[in-house]
Amino acid sequence: MPAQCPNAQPARRFQPLFRRSILFGMAVGLLALSACGNRSETRRIASASGSGLQRLVPSNPMMVGYPRLSLPITGADAATMPADEVACRRALKRLKVRYQDLAPINDGGSCQIAYPVKIAGFSGSIEMKPAATLSCEMALAFASWTKDELAPAARSRYWSGVKTIHQGSSYSCRRIARTTVASEHSKGNALDVMRIELKNGRDIKVEKQGLFAFRARGLLNTVRADGCSYFTTVLGPGYNRDHADHFHFDIKARRNGYRACR
Ligand SMILES: [Zn+2]
Repeated sequence: MPAQCPNAQPARRFQPLFRRSILFGMAVGLLALSACGNRSETRRIASASGSGLQRLVPSNPMMVGYPRLSLPITGADAATMPADEVACRRALKRLKVRYQDLAPINDGGSCQIAYPVKIAGFSGSIEMKPAATLSCEMALAFASWTKDELAPAARSRYWSGVKTIHQGSSYSCRRIARTTVASEHSKGNALDVMRIELKNGRDIKVEKQGLFAFRARGLLNTVRADGCSYFTTVLGPGYNRDHADHFHFDIKARRNGYRACR
């Protein structure tokens, strides 16, 4: 930490004027501390606000960002984990999710995950490729959707299990396209699904399907609509050009529990 990041002052008995100057000093100190948190100007991102849903256009999957070399964490780190994170991992295990805990991610600004997990696959030997770096809450939402919606929809329409979910972006330090708002990807709370590969060899791309592609269209429409019960944002083909070739799922918290399913 740089020298200008202040340390705490010892307690004293203050005169009013002295107290005011201490308060001013604390304010300056807080500003200095927040500046210490930013690694560079280019990475600074405004915190997410509830502004215009029309502007929710993230995920050019070609902008997947900077692949990370995240390290698995040790048992010692897990010992200090908050109760909700512990409970979330218990739920992942119950769903037979294949995951690994990663060291905390902090790329400055909103680009942080305190307790990230790396998801390699789900029950039913469903693989996630490439493995996705997510918050545990998002991983759990996605695992539940995969088990209870995607896998049954593939079984009923194609008589096949799901082999691989091909994702285009999980954690990624970036803004929503053409805005200054941090994408939910920058908190590990979003995942882009590009393609669903079935065990019978079928490959279903997430894109607008042809007029006679009844089964593919039915599957994609069903799992997309059902996604609204698991995520707070579901965007895909037909919403706008940015989402013509993938589903974007995220768990952004909005006032009044509003969900954006487009
Ligand atoms: Zn996305």
